[in-house]
Amino acid sequence: MQLSANYDVLAAIKNWRLGTQSQTISTNAAHIFAEDVLTMEIFRSRLSKPVFKSLMATVERSEPLDSSISDIVALAMKEWAAEKGATHYTHWFQPLTGSTAEKHESFVTPNSGGGAISEFSGKELIQGEPDASSFPSGGLRATFEARGYTAWDPTSPAFIMRHSNGATLCIPTAFASWTGEALDEKTPLLRSIEALNKAAKKALLLFDTPVAKVYPTVGLEQEYFLVDEEFFYRRPDLMLCGRTLFGAQPPRGQELEDHYFGSIPDRVLSFMADAEYQLYKLGVPVKTRHNEVAPGQYEIAPLFEHGNIAADHQQLLMQIFKNTARKFGLVCMMHEKPFAGVNGSGKHTNWSMSTNTGINLLEPGETPQENMMFLFFCAAMLKAVDDHQDLLRISVSSAANDHRLGANEAPPAIISIFLGDQLSSILDQIESGKLEDTPEAGLLGLGTQILPNLARHAGDRNRTSPFAFTGNKFEFRAVGSSQSSSFAITVLNTITTDAISALTSDIESLMNNGESFSHALATVLKQTIKNHKRIIFNGDGYSDDWKQEASQRGLLNLPDTISALPLLSSEKNCVLFKKYAVLSNREIAAREEVMFDHYFKTINIEGETTEWIAQTMILPAALMIVKEQSTIAKNVKELGLEFSSVLSGIHETIALTNNLSEKLAVLNKANKELGGETIHEKAHHMHDTVIPAMNQVRQAADALERIMPDALRTMPNYREMLFVK
Ligand code: ADP
Ligand code: MG
Repeated sequence: MQLSANYDVLAAIKNWRLGTQSQTISTNAAHIFAEDVLTMEIFRSRLSKPVFKSLMATVERSEPLDSSISDIVALAMKEWAAEKGATHYTHWFQPLTGSTAEKHESFVTPNSGGGAISEFSGKELIQGEPDASSFPSGGLRATFEARGYTAWDPTSPAFIMRHSNGATLCIPTAFASWTGEALDEKTPLLRSIEALNKAAKKALLLFDTPVAKVYPTVGLEQEYFLVDEEFFYRRPDLMLCGRTLFGAQPPRGQELEDHYFGSIPDRVLSFMADAEYQLYKLGVPVKTRHNEVAPGQYEIAPLFEHGNIAADHQQLLMQIFKNTARKFGLVCMMHEKPFAGVNGSGKHTNWSMSTNTGINLLEPGETPQENMMFLFFCAAMLKAVDDHQDLLRISVSSAANDHRLGANEAPPAIISIFLGDQLSSILDQIESGKLEDTPEAGLLGLGTQILPNLARHAGDRNRTSPFAFTGNKFEFRAVGSSQSSSFAITVLNTITTDAISALTSDIESLMNNGESFSHALATVLKQTIKNHKRIIFNGDGYSDDWKQEASQRGLLNLPDTISALPLLSSEKNCVLFKKYAVLSNREIAAREEVMFDHYFKTINIEGETTEWIAQTMILPAALMIVKEQSTIAKNVKELGLEFSSVLSGIHETIALTNNLSEKLAVLNKANKELGGETIHEKAHHMHDTVIPAMNQVRQAADALERIMPDALRTMPNYREMLFVK
């Protein structure tokens, strides 16, 4: 029982130091950047001109791959991979589990003559058939037709994944059922990118700016915690649930904000350098690293990239961080709320739109023309977010993120936009029509006078907003640290597509009625601002006043996953996703089912783990205290000494222990029942019954922790986990 005395963290750190002394990490990032990525440049040098051109047409203009070149491309890929030391290849995909999946195939297949042949042709490159029956499909794939297919995504480059004993060629792929329905995160993302491309290109024609392509740009800031591996293994809750289900608050918490931007501890820095080195080789443009608000919490942010690539790179980053931490005796925890009462982790999703000619559509420009464009796309964002608050909220819903959103630290669950005072006042002026009074013919004049002064990082950046304009992009802060960012990006792309299309056709119809473009634009901007300005909120998103005001404004307040998820399949959302060919009704229903199922399973595991830990670790330790205290009491009494303080100690322990037993009985009952047959009923049971019972058990156990002698404690506490570095 007396485990706590056994922690040998110092020995672990010492071992790590010995182990890493021989490690050499190149400091020259430029030298190794994208060394393990199969770039188009490499294809250019290895393919004939016509074949390369044909491949480019697919990559750049999304034209279907010419089947006659697939064998040649596959051969070039295999040769490159073999030179890099790869022995296997895998179709790398993103099932609806939120992480990635891979099934490795050897390049070499034994033949009947006792030798081996190399097998990797165009067929293997383009399509794979992983044994997919274990991935969630939300009913899209009954087990008798369990097949799922992976299909090559040539727009995301293949790469080499290394492990200590070799290397694998990873081919980014989409994953679909045999009926062609999306079973993954990538397929809808790619569809939404295409929808946005079409709508934005059409809108740009109004501004006399024809371009070949518009695509979303995405930069993701990943927050995470590091804890010593030794502590992790002693915490079944961390191991099974990724978060602590017990634990009294540490004596010193994040109120001491010296950790934020403070110096990074040596072991942590070494870990970061190692992980970043690997990411550089994979072409992930890692840029910033720093301490975060909470002790033990850190952040990494690559530079923004094309949305599809950023989403792939984000998955790679999470995987490499988790694997690399182990090398340093650390565990990298991406859970949204590993420690109660301590700041949680998010994945700020910075999002904008770019043309192939390099224009950022959400950046105020220098010329009237550019500023009109900026105002148009900005107004589209207002409309998009206001019309589709529900979808943004749903896209970040999970059992884990419920601990963050609305819990008085991370963004509130109410979706609103922060624009900053400057931009808000410009929109006010447009709405009130003051603009048109300016001598230089209204809007055009205002554009030149005011917009260029818009500070990119205005001092009034608001950390409490879930969706903030930060000078040249929007930052969606509600995304959870462990989530795949793909669905949030898919939703952003789709709702923006919808708003851009609506504004474009409004302008077009005014112009068809004889209005000039600039008047039509002014009219539509005015109307859009008027209709959607309720979504703008520059104040304190954590305050109770805001909740009230938001409800007066008619904004949605969906406090948790259970209240948000059922809206995914609303008629409005089905129509939207169908209109832009992003998700079919069946795919939406499947996704909702998978999300409910994930919610149910997460809480179910937490409920059972809570019960198990309380029953087998905390309750026995509590009884040990009673036993020790009783022995002491007896001895003291025998000696004829005053022992009232000892007795009151026993009374307290027994009261706390009884309380824990009672709460445990309630949880035990809640865990046994499932609340119904359907996944909705089960999820509701978790929400309504299991979570409150779990919270009660935790409260009772944490009260015991506060009086637990160190020698009887079976799990490391918050102080140890958060402050040992
Ligand atoms: P913060 O101040 O919120 O911590 P950071 O500077 O750490 O912001 O991160 C900002 C992120 O936004 C980076 O990933 C950056 O590359 C990204 N970003 C910058 N410009 C754009 C853009 N036009 N589109 C998408 N992301 C962008
Ligand atoms: Mg940020």
